[in-house]
Amino acid sequence: MGLSKLWELQEMQLRLQELQRQLHTSALARELKREKERLEACQETVRARMQEREELRRQVAALERACQDLAARKKQLEGKLYSGETSNPKELNNIQHKIDTTAGELAREEERAMELALQQEQLEEWLKENVSKLQADKAAYREKLARYRTWREGLQQEMDVLAVNAAQLEGEIDPKLLTLYSDLQRRLGTKALARVVKGTCSGCHLVVPPVLLREARAGKFIYCESCGRLLLP
Ligand SMILES: [Zn+2]
Repeated sequence: MGLSKLWELQEMQLRLQELQRQLHTSALARELKREKERLEACQETVRARMQEREELRRQVAALERACQDLAARKKQLEGKLYSGETSNPKELNNIQHKIDTTAGELAREEERAMELALQQEQLEEWLKENVSKLQADKAAYREKLARYRTWREGLQQEMDVLAVNAAQLEGEIDPKLLTLYSDLQRRLGTKALARVVKGTCSGCHLVVPPVLLREARAGKFIYCESCGRLLLP
């Protein structure tokens, strides 16, 4: 009658469904997705802070040049002041005033340079810590991803084998029985065929009347009176 092959087919279909469920509800896959998003955000932050570092470097270099220029200008003015070239008090006063202005400017620029150097130091420290943490996290992510892929490939292989075996088995079952079975599955779900175990239906666990069981054993298609499943005696 082919019911035992149909049972075998149903077992394969159930296993396939279970594997599909595992594939689509993998907690590891969800975890990996979250981790990937987190790592991308971290990467973006690190990138922005590296740009900040470049900008700071440029600012520091420009300040250093400005300080050098101011120091040179101050030195030049001082040279002029003490060279004895001029004895005009008004002019000397004027040079002294320029020296004072330049010294003030130089002090401000040097203070600014120190502030930037401190910022640079803090930024370097932040980058050192976070870049190595990001690299470690990325390595851990890649390892986890490789494990997940191996698992998924194993699952996929098992599914491929099951699909081939199921198709082969279907070829061995009477097409009429297959049609009847798939109609039944549309109404009752994958478990449309139930075994009779110790006089009860394995689908709903209610007693199968002995008279029906006898008919099933005699080769008739018998359906469970309570759940409607086709019974395999
Ligand atoms: Zn039943």
